[in-house]
Amino acid sequence: MRCRQTGSLFIRRDIAIRRRQLASNSNVSKYRFDRGGADHCRRSPGVLRVPATRSSRHRKYCGGYCYLNNNSLAAQSLLDEGAARVAILDVDYHHGNGTQSIFYERDDVLTISLHADPKVEYPFFLGYADEPGSGQGHGFNVNYPLPFGTAWDSYRGALADALDKVRKFSPDALVVALGLDTFAGDPTTFFEITTDDFSRMGAAISSLELPTLVVLEGGYSVDWIGENTVKFLGGLESG
Ligand SMILES: [Zn+2]
Repeated sequence: MRCRQTGSLFIRRDIAIRRRQLASNSNVSKYRFDRGGADHCRRSPGVLRVPATRSSRHRKYCGGYCYLNNNSLAAQSLLDEGAARVAILDVDYHHGNGTQSIFYERDDVLTISLHADPKVEYPFFLGYADEPGSGQGHGFNVNYPLPFGTAWDSYRGALADALDKVRKFSPDALVVALGLDTFAGDPTTFFEITTDDFSRMGAAISSLELPTLVVLEGGYSVDWIGENTVKFLGGLESG
C-alpha cells in the first residue's frame, strides 16, 4: 500500500514487513509511532497468519488459532514509542477476547469489538455488551454482539456507533483487527457482509482520519480473502 503525506502523526514505513518474516507474528511488535519527520506512512497493512485476537496475557490459555496477539503487540509498541492513547477496533466475526483481557483494566487503550453474539458463537464466555472494563479501564472496552445473519444494513449502524466512540477517545493511532470471516461466503460463520461492503467498511473507518494499522485476522473463504482485503484497503485509502 502506498504511503501518503499526512502531517505530524504517522506510523513509519521502516517497519515494512520483509517477505521472509511474514511467518513471524512478532513482526507487529516492530511498528513504530513517531511525531514529525519525512519518512512516513499514514496507513499500513500487516499481512500475518495465524490470527491473534484470542491470545491473552494470561499464560493459561491461547484461544482460536491464536498464540501471539498481534494487534495488542502493535498497540503496546505504539504506546512505547510515544503515543498517549491507542484504539483497537476489532471487526473479526469472533469476539477479540484476548485483546479485551489484555487491556481490560487500562484506560490508555480503547478496545472495541463487533462480533457474533457469544450466546451462540465462540468464544461464548466473553464478548457481551455488559463488559465495560474494570478499575481504571472502566468505560474503555465496548462490545457489539450481533445476531446471526447480520448484513451491512444493520452492521453499519453498530460500526458508526463504534467509530463515534473512537472519536471521543481521541487516540493518537488506530489498530484495526481486520477479520474477513464476516464475509457472506465464509464457510465457518453466519454474517452476510459482501465484498463491496468491505470497501464501505474501510471508507467508514477512514473517516476517523487517524494513523491506522490494519492487522489481518480471521477469514476462511480462501478464494475471496485476497479480493476482500483489497476492497477493504481500497475503501480505507479512498475514504
Ligand atoms: Zn474470527
